[in-house]
Amino acid sequence: MEEIDRPRAEQRIGREHAEATHLVGALSVELDEIVESMSLSNNDDEHDPEGATNAYERAKATAMLRQAQKRLVELDQARARLREGTYGRCLRCGDEIASERLDALVTASHCLRCAAEAPPR
Ligand SMILES: [Zn+2]
Repeated sequence: MEEIDRPRAEQRIGREHAEATHLVGALSVELDEIVESMSLSNNDDEHDPEGATNAYERAKATAMLRQAQKRLVELDQARARLREGTYGRCLRCGDEIASERLDALVTASHCLRCAAEAPPR
């Protein structure tokens, strides 16, 4: 088994963390604007086309925001595992996670087999 390139993993996690933080900020602003424009348009007619669009936009932005926040949590957890020295080990069976898998998914917390058996989401 190859050694995990910790500095590289740390760097990648840091970069993705910065991106996710930026995304959460941008989406929060977007969501605020949608909510504001919804309250300004002051329509209680659900069949109003603009109201429907706003509702759709709000649902979409909310879903994206949740996803970005979840990503941040995963990145924080990966960083904590890196600090504890458990990064790259499966949380379920303790096996090493293949480096190709960590390359593809820097926050991978389970080996491929365990991820397939017990999907984390
Ligand atoms: Zn496993």
